Amino acid sequence: MKIQPFTGSFTQQEAISDTAIAAAVDVLRTGRLHRYNTHIDEVSYTAQLEREYADYQQSTYCLACASGGYAMSIALQAAGLEPGETVLTNSFTLAPVPGSIVNAGGLPVFVEITHDLVLDLEDLTEKITSSRARFLLLSHMRGHLVDMDRLMDIVVSNDLILIEDCAHTMGAKWKKQKSGNFGLASCFSTQTYKHLNSGEGGLLTSDDAEFMARAIMLSGSYMLYDRHGAAPARETFNYIRLDTPNCSGRMDNLRAAILRPQLTELETNIKRWNERYRAIEQRLANCDAIRVPVRPPNEYYVGSSIQFLIMGISASSARDFLNANKQLGVELKWFGDDEPVAFTSNHKSWLYINKQSLPKTDAILSGLFDMRIPLTFSLADCEHIAKIIVECAHQK
Ligand SMILES: *Cc1c(COP(=O)(O)O)cnc(C)c1O
Repeated sequence: MKIQPFTGSFTQQEAISDTAIAAAVDVLRTGRLHRYNTHIDEVSYTAQLEREYADYQQSTYCLACASGGYAMSIALQAAGLEPGETVLTNSFTLAPVPGSIVNAGGLPVFVEITHDLVLDLEDLTEKITSSRARFLLLSHMRGHLVDMDRLMDIVVSNDLILIEDCAHTMGAKWKKQKSGNFGLASCFSTQTYKHLNSGEGGLLTSDDAEFMARAIMLSGSYMLYDRHGAAPARETFNYIRLDTPNCSGRMDNLRAAILRPQLTELETNIKRWNERYRAIEQRLANCDAIRVPVRPPNEYYVGSSIQFLIMGISASSARDFLNANKQLGVELKWFGDDEPVAFTSNHKSWLYINKQSLPKTDAILSGLFDMRIPLTFSLADCEHIAKIIVECAHQK
C-alpha cells in the first residue's frame, strides 16, 4: 500500500491559553507595558516572571530580556569579555550563537562535535591550550547534553568561564541538576519555536551577584534595578552602576504576562514532547540506514526536535532525500548544505569569522537531518511522519 502524505504544519505551535490571553488583556487595559511603569507597591509582570523563573530554574538570580541572543551577548560582557578576546563555542549551533559573541566584541573559535552532536571534549582540551581562551559559550544545541561531569572537570581545571546556551534545554537535566546550573550563567530563549512562546524574549540566570548586577545594568535598567524580581541586593549595584553601559534590551510586561502561565505548563509539556520524540525515535532506530544520536542515561532531555544521521550520504542524495520527504509533507532540515536555508546554516556561511578547519564536524553535518516536533502533532502524526522518513531512507 502506498504511504499517504502527511498534511500537518511543522511550524504551527499551540495556541496561547485563555489564561495567558486574559493576563495579556489585563496588561493592555492598564496601558502599563513598560516593565518599570508600575504603581507604588505594584510588582510588574516582568519582575514576577523573573522571580518565578529563578524558582523554576533553582537559580539565585534571573533577568528577563529581549531575546536569547541578547542574553548571551550581555552575559559575555557582564562576565568581563575583553574586545577581541576568544570565545570557544560549538561548531554545530545556530547563527545567533556566533552572532552574540561578535556582538559582545569577541572572536568565536569553534570546537568539533561528536556523532552524538555534543562537544568533542578532546578537541575542546586542545583548543583551550592552543587559543588560551578564558570563555566557553556552550550551546546545548538541539537539546543534546555533553557529559557534564567530564565537561566540568575540564572547565574547573582550566579555570574556564562557562556560559550555557540553554535555548534547547530549558527544563532538561544532567543527573538531577538542571541544565543551566553548571556555569557562571545561562541563557534561555522564549522565541516562538522554543519551550516557552512570547514571540521574542530571553531569560538570563546566575548565582553570581556582581555578574547579575552588571547584566541588569547592561539590559537597560537605568537606576531602577530595585524593581527587579530576582536581583542582587542594592549594595552590589553601588560598585558597578556607573561603569556599566546601558545597552537597552528589556522585556516588557505583555510578554511576561503570557509567559507566566506557560511556565506552569512546562513540565507537562516536556512529557508531551518526550512521548512524541520517542514515538519517532523508535521507528527511526529500526532503520539500518539511519543513525539516531545515543542519549546517555544521565541525560533528561526535552525532545522538542529530533536529529538523525545518514552516514556517507552524498550531497545530491541528501537533496533527493529532502525532496522525497517534502513530497510526502515532511519538512526536514539538512545541516550539510553549502547554502544557508531558512533558520539553518553552518560555520562555512559565517564569513564574518576567520575560516576554521573542522573536518570532523563537516563530515557529521553532511549527513545530519533535523526536524521540529511541535506539540500540535498527535502521537499518530509522529508515527506517520517516522514511517515516511524511513520509507524515503530506503528509496535513496
Ligand atoms: C533560538 C536560539 C538562540 C537565540 O534565541 P533568540 O531568542 O532567537 O535570540 C540561541 N541559541 C540557539 C541554539 C537557538 O536555537
